[in-house]
Amino acid sequence: MKPLIEFKQISYSYQSPDECTNAIENLSFHVNKGEFISVIGPSGCGKSTLLSMIAGLIQPDSGSIEYSEELYASHPIRPIGYMLQNDALFPFRSVYRNCILGLEINHALTEENLTYTRSLLEEYGLMPFADRRPTELSGGMRQRAALIRTLVLRPELLLLDEPFSSLDYQTRLTVSDDICSKIRSEGKTTILVTHDLAEAISLSDRVIVLTKRPATLRKEFLIRLTRDSEHRFSSREAPEFQSYFHSLWEALYET
Ligand code: ADP
Ligand code: MG
Repeated sequence: MKPLIEFKQISYSYQSPDECTNAIENLSFHVNKGEFISVIGPSGCGKSTLLSMIAGLIQPDSGSIEYSEELYASHPIRPIGYMLQNDALFPFRSVYRNCILGLEINHALTEENLTYTRSLLEEYGLMPFADRRPTELSGGMRQRAALIRTLVLRPELLLLDEPFSSLDYQTRLTVSDDICSKIRSEGKTTILVTHDLAEAISLSDRVIVLTKRPATLRKEFLIRLTRDSEHRFSSREAPEFQSYFHSLWEALYET
């Protein structure tokens, strides 16, 4: 099967009049349809740059990014959804009106899409807060609202840039677990940037480890955990978990 996206020897640098920052160098990897991939790497190595490139916001200096036709085939509004670290909700709009923002911008406020928005608000437990302002919500709820705003456009590929990093540890555990299991059950292809190794292992099918800047591929890990579906955080308690943690740690910090 052809991958959904294929990165072939991508390089990218930021140019300014007196400085050139090499962010990505000779990076190759692929993303299969339906996969949940985490990207980890040292701070400032080029992870957000990588997502912006996948989203098409910036173009590589060299190399190519190949998108499968399938990515565009069944997704008339937006095939790629991009959710940033900061939830970027507008404070003057209600939660509901924040969630439909993308639909408004894309002239897609159809009854079907609005019904879908309401069903997501229901599913993520935000319906009772639909008319509230974002400032009245907890951090975890705001992240959910930001995610719904991305999901209403029905992207095939979801790009998540450290979406849980502003949450406190306990909220983060439940929110990341909840959100990611919902995303998984919908079979969406997801690329999650995170600096939390445990999060990467517990949520992903595959973890990509990048080197320090300029980012290139250091190692890839296929994650196979014995999960106990009865148990909420079971993936973190799987017998294989510690060994993956150890290997990822080594890959990240070996010089
Ligand atoms: P990460 O997300 O892994 O922390 P980024 O992709 O944001 O890293 O940044 C990679 C490198 O590129 C960093 O050194 C950062 O300072 C630099 N960088 C990011 N954005 C810009 C920009 N718009 N102009 C110049 N340099 C930038
Ligand atoms: Mg970043």
